[in-house]
Parts: sequence; C-alpha cells; structure tokens
Amino acid sequence: MTAPLATTDISAAAAGLVEKTPLERYVPPAKPSLVGLSRAELAEALASIGVPAAQRKMRVQQIWHWLYVRGAESFSAMTSVSKELRAALDARFTLARPEVVAEQTSVDGTRKWLLRLPGEHAGERPHEVECVYIPEADRGTLCVSSQVGCTLACSFCHTGTQRLVRNLTAGEIVGQVMLARDRLGDWHRKSGLPDLRASEIPSPPSPASGEGKGGGGERLVSNIVMMGMGEPLYNFEAVRDALLVVADGEGIAISKRRITLSTSGVVPNIARAGAEIGCMLAVSLHAVRDDLRNELVPLNRKYPIAELLDACRRYPGLSNARRITFEYVMLKDVNDSLADAKALVKLLKGIPAKINLIPFNPWPGTRYECSDWDRIEQFSETVFNAGYASPVRTPRGRDILAACGQLKSASEKLTARERLALRAMAMTD
Ligand code: SAH
Ligand code: SF4
Repeated sequence: MTAPLATTDISAAAAGLVEKTPLERYVPPAKPSLVGLSRAELAEALASIGVPAAQRKMRVQQIWHWLYVRGAESFSAMTSVSKELRAALDARFTLARPEVVAEQTSVDGTRKWLLRLPGEHAGERPHEVECVYIPEADRGTLCVSSQVGCTLACSFCHTGTQRLVRNLTAGEIVGQVMLARDRLGDWHRKSGLPDLRASEIPSPPSPASGEGKGGGGERLVSNIVMMGMGEPLYNFEAVRDALLVVADGEGIAISKRRITLSTSGVVPNIARAGAEIGCMLAVSLHAVRDDLRNELVPLNRKYPIAELLDACRRYPGLSNARRITFEYVMLKDVNDSLADAKALVKLLKGIPAKINLIPFNPWPGTRYECSDWDRIEQFSETVFNAGYASPVRTPRGRDILAACGQLKSASEKLTARERLALRAMAMTD
C-alpha cells in the first residue's frame, strides 16, 4: 500500500532544467485505511486477516457498497457484515479519510478544506494539501490534489514554489472525494430521509449524476477535476487507481465524462491516461510559442508544443461531444495579444477542443499580472469567432482564498499579508 514514487527525470532535475526537489516518501500508518483500495487489493486485505477465499468476493462487494455507496466511516456501521469479521477488520484496518484541519465556506457556497497527511519522519512538519468544492446551478465540482506541492516549477504558479513534495496515495486521493461527501452529507441514504447537513449547502446542483446502479440519485459532488496541487501525470499509478475507484459504477459512480485530469504536458503519460483511465483531459497550454512556453511551463523543454499537441490528437475517444480543454492563463503583456489568440486557434486546428481562459491569480512575489478585463474579453471573442467555446473561468470563493491550481498549503507559513495577497479564485468551467 506504499505509494509508488513518481516518474521523475533525475537527470533533468539535476540539470535544474525541468524539475526541482526530490520526492518525500509516504510512510503508511500502522493501521492502514481501506479507503482507495481496488477490489483486488481489498480481497488481499481480507485474505491477510484470514477470510476464506470462497467468501472474499462477496465480502468485497459488501464492504465496497458500505464504503462507496453508503459512506461508512466505521466498521460498526456495516450491519450486513458479520460481527466477527467487523471486529477482525477493526483490529487491523481503519476507514480513515485525510484529516481535515480547517474548513472554510465562502458566501458563494465554495468550500475549502485544508487536509493534513502523514509525513515521512516522526515530528517533522506535516504534509498539507487543499481540496475545494464549487457548487453551481447544474453541477458540483470537487477540485482534488494529487501531490503535496509539485516537482515542476511553472513560473506563474504558486504551488510550484513550495519546497516539500510528496506523491499522494490512491487512498488519499479517493479520501478527498469521501470527505467531501462526508462533509456535504452527500451519501446515498437507503432510508430516503433528507440529510440535514446537505440542506445547509447554499446552492446545490440539481440534476442526477450518479450513473451507476449503486450510487444513483442526486449528488452534490457530481464532477471531479484533478486541478488541485500537483501534476497528476507525475503520480500516474496512484491517480489512475484512485480515479478508477471514483468512477466505479457500483460505488461513488462519478462517470469518467465528469472527471477531468489537468496536466502541464507529461506527453508519455497522456497516452497512458487515455488507455488506462479514460477520463476527460485538460492541458495547460498557456503559450503558443516554444520560447515563451519554456519560460512559463519549463516542462516544455522536455516535451515541446508540437509533441504535446500530437499526443492530444491521439487521445482516444475525441469527438465534438468529447473535447480536450486547453487551459490558457491570461498574463498581462506576456501571452495575451490578439496575435496570440489567432495563433492559438491555428495551432489547435483539427483537435476537438475547448479553450478555457483563466484570469491569472496573483500571489506574493510573482512577476506577472492578470490581463485587463477588456483584453480577456477580446481574446475570448477572437477564439469564439473561430468556432471554439472559450469560457472565462469565473472567480469563486474569493473570500476564503480558494484558488484551485495555485494552492499552497499552510505548512509554508504564509504571513497575513501574503494570505491576503493570495485572495484568489477557485476555477471551474
Ligand atoms: N499540474 C496540473 C494541474 C494543477 S494546476 C497542471 O498544471 O495542469 C491547474 C490549473 O491552474 C493549470 O492550468 C495551471 O496552469 C493553472 N494555474 C496555476 N497557477 C495559476 C495562477 N496563479 N493563476 C491562474 N491559473 C493558474
Ligand atoms: Fe505544478 Fe501545475 Fe503548478 Fe505547473 S501549474 S507548477 S505543473 S501545479
């Protein structure tokens, strides 16, 4: 159950080209959580406590249902499982989600949780990540983190300035979805009784989203974006395993079409994401020329724009109804000219695409500014007139500093002034 180390390129890191700090190790607690295990891993866990092979499949189904449909937080809740087995499970495992150390709710309903994860050494600074929930009229989007910090150092991104980096485990990734559902009262209730906590949410999205047989009904968390801290394709196996659990139709049942993975362009793993996960893809493009993209997204030196777009063209299942989202952060006088807008449209020709313009969220010490609003609108219009949907991400959760995509955990000890400067936005389509 130890997280695999990320596929970092040591030579590039040593040369100071693309990546910075090495990864910290995840050290599992003495009593590990069953959250995030695949069915096969769950069966292994049952075998380890002596459940006979002939019973395992049925027991896995039961536990899966209690965990991922009913949201059980303790083994004692699993009333269809025998008392003996519940006790045996309790002696060796937990159903723990990441520990919530702070919760903030914005006036617009956006919620942000600061999560504490175990570190490598006893007594060291805890690892922290953030997870943001954004309710809208027709959906509720959860912005999920894949790493503590990020080994990449995009020059406009605050997460990239964080020193500490660790891969999250599949359990810690699934755990973010679990705790959001816990906190929002968003689990399936067989009794049909309304959940009190759910009724406190300011603007719940309405349409049904749980498409699987087990997870059916209306859901507050209907969409997932892997756009929190970290580069998900540098923690590929854990992200893949977690998303397969989240998409499982007999459990959490969020359809792969409602799961979007955002990458800065880890080309070899884009094909793997298509083949092994099958979720929607978002690509952080941000520039139309290699010289500028090298500066904004240093990973571009390893995987330049042409290679990145080739990988996008080959992404499986693309159609007008299933397009790649290209993210483009609006940086004043850097990448926001109308010539850039025209070049962008030309570059993406032939790829079923949406272009998502993101107003830059400033942070302390950054050398960039957000483009003027007029310029963002003109840019958007140019892209729109060329036939692309070009939504500008709406600011959300400003009052709680919820800034999906530029999150930096409190363990970096921000000053009050910095925190104020970080007042920013969570982003969604
Ligand atoms: N590492 C992945 C996913 C997390 S970042 C990636 O880079 O795609 C999610 C999105 O937020 C990315 O498009 C990223 O470029 C963008 N982002 C990062 N910092 C930002 C900032 N300060 N303002 C606006 N968008 C930012
Ligand atoms: Fe990492 Fe994404 Fe930030 Fe780049 S934009 S530093 S890849 S989190």
